[in-house]
Amino acid sequence: MAAPLYLDANATEPLRPDARAAAIAAMDLLGNPSSVHAEGRAARRMLEAARARLAACFGAAPGDVVLTAGGTEANALAIRGLSVGRRVLAGVTEHPAVLAAAPDAALLPVGGDGVLDLDALRRALAGGPPALVCLMAANNETGVLHPVAEAAALCREHGALLHVDGVQAAGRVPLSLAALGADSLALSGHKLGGPKGAGALLLRPGLGLAPLVAGGGQERGRRGGTEALPALAGMAAAAAAARPEDAARLAALRDAIEAGCLAQGARVAGAGAPRLPNTTSLVLPGVPAETQVIALDLAGVRVSAGAACSSGKVGRSHVLAAMGLGPDAGCAIRVSLPWDAPADAAERFLDAWGAMRARLARGAG
Ligand code: PLP
Repeated sequence: MAAPLYLDANATEPLRPDARAAAIAAMDLLGNPSSVHAEGRAARRMLEAARARLAACFGAAPGDVVLTAGGTEANALAIRGLSVGRRVLAGVTEHPAVLAAAPDAALLPVGGDGVLDLDALRRALAGGPPALVCLMAANNETGVLHPVAEAAALCREHGALLHVDGVQAAGRVPLSLAALGADSLALSGHKLGGPKGAGALLLRPGLGLAPLVAGGGQERGRRGGTEALPALAGMAAAAAAARPEDAARLAALRDAIEAGCLAQGARVAGAGAPRLPNTTSLVLPGVPAETQVIALDLAGVRVSAGAACSSGKVGRSHVLAAMGLGPDAGCAIRVSLPWDAPADAAERFLDAWGAMRARLARGAG
């Protein structure tokens, strides 16, 4: 039997060889990075090298990189830390990691293509006290890219701070905190092809923030707790190994998948918007996403229904609902190609998808 075809990179990317090697090397280091003796200093050197690598990859100074245990924590740290004395505005299609950290946020609408409505942001910024705006660079379900640099300019004009969730964009499209002109940027190791349980929050120069978890003063007092050196070293190696040149190869596979499915009655959510090269959200009207995911799983093809949900349950996507898909918001699967997608990925996906579609049509007829 053929090996499973893994097309769920937005849930987690396969581990990159460089990341595995860096994580294993870090596991063999004895010291705590905060210890002053030789073993501690060796661990500290490795930690600082990882920090410097992340800073260089994503447009920050090493001293402005706070290492965390994942993207969820990096987002929560930014939102709790930077929202003091500010109201929070968040895109309606943000990840639950952001929405849960800002339960009182006023939600900013998107258009039918899933892209943030900049006029709505402008209006929201014009009235009211200083704000913290939260906007993801790329949506995890549709791959839609938001106009982050434009939003950053608007925020500056109105004295607002902009926090960017860069978890899905990192490693897939060029992403730089400095180039965007944003105030903070959240990253996750396992979406880059690193180990799970590592993340980082990059801050604009001079921007301080209170910790979510205080402790032994690690991360310059911005995040207490001994750093997870193996996961973080692996994350930094993954970031350095990520090749934006892969984009064209993945986009060609993604386009072939879309063309095949469109020809057989599917729709693509966010088709008109700029998107990540590896992601498509395929809507098959009338067929619950869960039915599609299970049928494809049985055929050896791994995809997900919108966002991966910790309960394993499939619900109606808040992202697609916000884009006005109505009842079809429960009928979309997310296909997200990993960095190492095989050359025949589109062909194999379309075989499985076509067989599923034919079976469903027979069942309905
Ligand atoms: N933000 C986005 C856009 C995501 O897609 C995810 C994970 O799916 C997260 C944040 C959370 O990252 P982590 O799994 O590292 O906590």
